[in-house]
Amino acid sequence: MEMPEPNGAVLAKRAQVLARLREVLPQEALITDETGCRAYECDALTAYRCIPMAVALPSCTEDVAEILRICHDEGVPVVPRGSGTSLAGGALPSADSVVIGVARLRDVLEVNTQDRYVRVQAGITNLAVTAHIEGDGFFYAPDPSSQLACAISGNIAMNSGGAHCLKYGVTTNNLLGVTMVLMDGTIMTLGGPYLDAGGLDLLGVVCGSEGQLGIVTEATLKILPKPEGARPVLMGFDSNEVAGACVSDIIKAGILPVAIEFMDRPCIRACEDFAKAGYPDCEALLIVEVEGSPREIDEQLARIKDIAQRHAPIELRESASAEESARIWLGRKSAFGAMGQINDYMCLDGTIPVSSLPLVLRRIGEMSRDYGLDVANVFHAGDGNMHPLILFDANKPGDLERCEAFGADILKLCVEVGGCLTGEHGVGIEKRDLMGVQYTAADMEAQMRIKDVFDARWLMNAAKVFPLAASATRRAA
Ligand SMILES: Cc1cc2nc3c(=O)[nH]c(=O)nc-3n(C[C@H](O)[C@H](O)[C@H](O)COP(=O)(O)OP(=O)(O)OC[C@H]3O[C@@H](n4cnc5c(N)ncnc54)[C@H](O)[C@@H]3O)c2cc1C
Repeated sequence: MEMPEPNGAVLAKRAQVLARLREVLPQEALITDETGCRAYECDALTAYRCIPMAVALPSCTEDVAEILRICHDEGVPVVPRGSGTSLAGGALPSADSVVIGVARLRDVLEVNTQDRYVRVQAGITNLAVTAHIEGDGFFYAPDPSSQLACAISGNIAMNSGGAHCLKYGVTTNNLLGVTMVLMDGTIMTLGGPYLDAGGLDLLGVVCGSEGQLGIVTEATLKILPKPEGARPVLMGFDSNEVAGACVSDIIKAGILPVAIEFMDRPCIRACEDFAKAGYPDCEALLIVEVEGSPREIDEQLARIKDIAQRHAPIELRESASAEESARIWLGRKSAFGAMGQINDYMCLDGTIPVSSLPLVLRRIGEMSRDYGLDVANVFHAGDGNMHPLILFDANKPGDLERCEAFGADILKLCVEVGGCLTGEHGVGIEKRDLMGVQYTAADMEAQMRIKDVFDARWLMNAAKVFPLAASATRRAA
């Protein structure tokens, strides 16, 4: 993003803000030089970049409160940041903003296996939570494919999901409480190590609020005992539509696998080359995983395979070992990275009713031909959360714009069939201008009034989620 050179008044204001931040933060916790700040210029939506005024890396909740008090006083916008893996531009800075990164807040504060929760600092990575408790036979269920890198804070802000969320739900179903700092520096606690607090469900409002309401510094997370065993089965089909119909039938039969993942031919090829996962050569692949005791696994898989047989699969193969299962999942979880090695792509994230899968897959194929851009499909099919990857050439003039128009049409289609604009990646800047496709002006006004309550001056992660004109008016008021 090209920005005009700052004038004298802006530079003086910057100097004042930075001087105040230096008073409360050690030198290594405040980055102000251009090279250092450049590392924070984007998230995983790399088409959009902007170098912030400064980056603050606090070490505790009180530090966050101090930084926010100063920025609030000075009218400086802030951008909360976890690990910067957002695919929606949620952590994109603006040139006049201070990025507040929580990467140094990564301690486990409490483990309680009896009452089944952990309390963590919010910058800890998703995978580190499970790594900390798996020796006790427990795990934290939400498993975004980015789990090695993404922070719990980003997961909370985006209400992230993952392959195994079909059975266990997404972040909001596994979050018990947070400590959060408001824009004016107020520290508040919502929820705790119990299932449901009285009063308004503000925890539900905060989870998925995309860094609009406050900076989360601590979280209490539900943990679950590890299942006795799990086994995936690979199902290959000769068309996307048939695979989609099979998913729809499994769900209709009332079976609840722990995961149903879908990949089409371009994705299968890329993942196979990348991970040597043993995927069959077919047009569409489902990975269906069930868990429980060996007998429970056998019973569920028998029913699932029976349904698959009715769709004439060209391959139907159960994993024969823990190593094979790990390879199968490595392939799936590497999908975005593997595709990125061979093509520029835009990753979409719409959700649809599962019964619409065959129709939506067919319409995406038709649109792909109309736009002259290929699409690779990989997604959490069991809960209808689609991730079409539109392939384009970033160096070819006009390709990005065509890709954006194509993406918008796919998301409109998701809404048209009764789904929604985003399943798990969030709105950020990516879908900000499409919010009107899903929400009426009154719906959006109600959401913006909630932001007014938490952040009256609209300084927190401004210009995201809500239509640009509306947030500019709010900020100017
Ligand atoms: C290869 C790849 C695979 C992915 N797979 C999945 C997947 O399977 N499922 C899925 O749901 N997502 C997936 N994602 C998207 C992304 O990883 C998630 O959105 C993740 O939760 C972002 O976490 P983060 O720590 O990187 O957050 P960031 O990118 O740093 O920020 C994301 C949002 O959270 C806000 N935020 C961050 N920290 C705080 C805080 N402390 N307080 C308040 N707001 C905060 C930011 O302002 C921003 O709006 C994937 C991304 C990649 C690159």
